[in-house]
Amino acid sequence: MTETILRPSPISASVDFSANGVQHGFLRLPYSRDDSAWGSVMIPITVIRNGDGPTALLTGGNHGDEYEGPIALFDLARTLELNEVRGRVIIVPAMNYPAFAAGTRTSPIDKGNMNRSFPGRPDGTVTQKIADYFQRELLPLADIVLDFHSGGKTLDFLPFCAAHILPDKEQEARAFELVKAFGAPWSMKMLEIDAVGMYDTAAEEMGKVFITTELGGGGTATARSAGIAKRGVRNVLRAAGILKGAVEISGTEWLDMPDGDCFLFAEDGGLIEPLVDLGEKVRKGDAVARIYPIGRTGADPVAIKAKMDGLLAARHFPGLVKQGDCVAVVAV
Ligand code: CA
Repeated sequence: MTETILRPSPISASVDFSANGVQHGFLRLPYSRDDSAWGSVMIPITVIRNGDGPTALLTGGNHGDEYEGPIALFDLARTLELNEVRGRVIIVPAMNYPAFAAGTRTSPIDKGNMNRSFPGRPDGTVTQKIADYFQRELLPLADIVLDFHSGGKTLDFLPFCAAHILPDKEQEARAFELVKAFGAPWSMKMLEIDAVGMYDTAAEEMGKVFITTELGGGGTATARSAGIAKRGVRNVLRAAGILKGAVEISGTEWLDMPDGDCFLFAEDGGLIEPLVDLGEKVRKGDAVARIYPIGRTGADPVAIKAKMDGLLAARHFPGLVKQGDCVAVVAV
């Protein structure tokens, strides 16, 4: 058997992760193309280090059309002061920067979905190269990892912070402590539809304390959702002992996604009529939406029915759905 030896990452950081102080710089990834022969993808990064202590790795823009994370992290990068910090904070507001700059979920360069690209490849596509850098360079530096998500252009969520049920119960408990500290209006025990290739899974398999969010969606942010993100990230840093001060306590309602019956998918495309709004209670068998065929009048719509009692935690955002789209998520 031959051993696979991975080549070094082509990404170089203009910041020194071991230096004390506040540094704003870039992760530079060479990207040769028609309009720039020796061009680069420049991913903004801030590193704030004040002596020894834990390291937090904070990311947004894993999907490029989700905005609460980038808002909170561009804000944090310019306002966090060195003397408030003990340990290290690494801030990457737009992890898949090409996708973020284009306002799209996936990268316009290679159609790469960052959250299905782990562990990545140093000799792969642009998105795979970024994933590989996080896998081999940034995640190993971290003790805690917060990756912001929202629904993007096609989904809308109740604002929640989340962690996963894990085989290591101590790791799981530490993650849920941070979820509680984040203090979103809702907190979720999250089930993934498709965990293979996710940043979440990469971090958790490395033993990191990993939390994520879904803070809204529709390809935009609101004053409320941005405020939840900004307050939440500082609370997480306080709970981790990195930022001075006490966690701003607020009530949160805990939600669970017990199994795959949470997810409701469209078997037909068409015009969607919502029958239940986010946060409203539903009973098993209730129609949460109906889908009208759009090619003719006089045809009955298809009802999308809840498979369990709970409340509506997510919904399809655009007014037209396609066959196979996720129409809604019911959480308990
Ligand atoms: Ca997302």
